[in-house]
Amino acid sequence: MLTFALGDMTVTEICDIRSFDIPLAIIFPRSDHQKLHRYLHWLEPSFLNHGNVRLAVRSWLLKRKGRNILVDSCVGNHKKRPARSDWHERKDTSWMEALASTGLKPEDIHIVFCTHLHADHVGWNTKLENGRWVPTFPNARYITGRTEYAHWEAEIAASEQIVGHGCFEDSVLPVMESGQMDLVTDGFQLADGLVLKSSAGHTPGHMSIDANCEGHTGVFCGDVLHSPIQMVQPDWSSAFCFDQKLARQARITLLDSLCDTSRLLIPMHFGNTGSCYVKRHEDVFMPVFSDSD
Ligand SMILES: [Zn+2]
Repeated sequence: MLTFALGDMTVTEICDIRSFDIPLAIIFPRSDHQKLHRYLHWLEPSFLNHGNVRLAVRSWLLKRKGRNILVDSCVGNHKKRPARSDWHERKDTSWMEALASTGLKPEDIHIVFCTHLHADHVGWNTKLENGRWVPTFPNARYITGRTEYAHWEAEIAASEQIVGHGCFEDSVLPVMESGQMDLVTDGFQLADGLVLKSSAGHTPGHMSIDANCEGHTGVFCGDVLHSPIQMVQPDWSSAFCFDQKLARQARITLLDSLCDTSRLLIPMHFGNTGSCYVKRHEDVFMPVFSDSD
């Protein structure tokens, strides 16, 4: 289990899917494998495995000043996701066991923040109880962007098809209906030292966390990047990005702001590693990995 300190905050990964692979051309439609040849010595096998992009699905647990905050809640259990066999009706105990190993119970979580409302970021928001979806964390405030919530609400109202694998209905609405959800805007302070910033592009209301804990800084960037491949090729937005150009712009703005500083990049999906610094090397961004187990 990856864990590290950011100043006086403890950051621990709560992993739902340790590793899965997606073909490069599927996840990054603009990709060209040739353009990665210079970087294969560090991309393989952790991030690129026989032409497949290797990803993880993880939450971050932030512990600071007696507050316990979950950032994103992965895929979850029992959700009907027939279009994604690896997400469909899962009965996997590892995510809950990882949370328990930190000494916390679901009752101990104060805040669940969802960077955006994709099915692999909201799943553990709810659990199935007597045939109904109920909030997994009974004492938590669940926080997400107002723009993000409104986008999915409108998409669903306008469509006769299942939208977003049905995750809004089973993992977001039950929390709203329980009265535990707060919709927020740019600049909202999640907790002392944790400020939300709009990073729209991957989804219309995507938000990141700007963390500053005793002068130690980092950005929990959700899906602004899926893989360090997008550091050497920041033009490659993912197939899952709502607005390819805006996603690219958000990615480059973020990488520029972190480049050659001591601010950590803390994404959700990087395979086998949790965070890195960003350095400029020749004409590209490069990761400098910093994790300790
Ligand atoms: Zn996403």
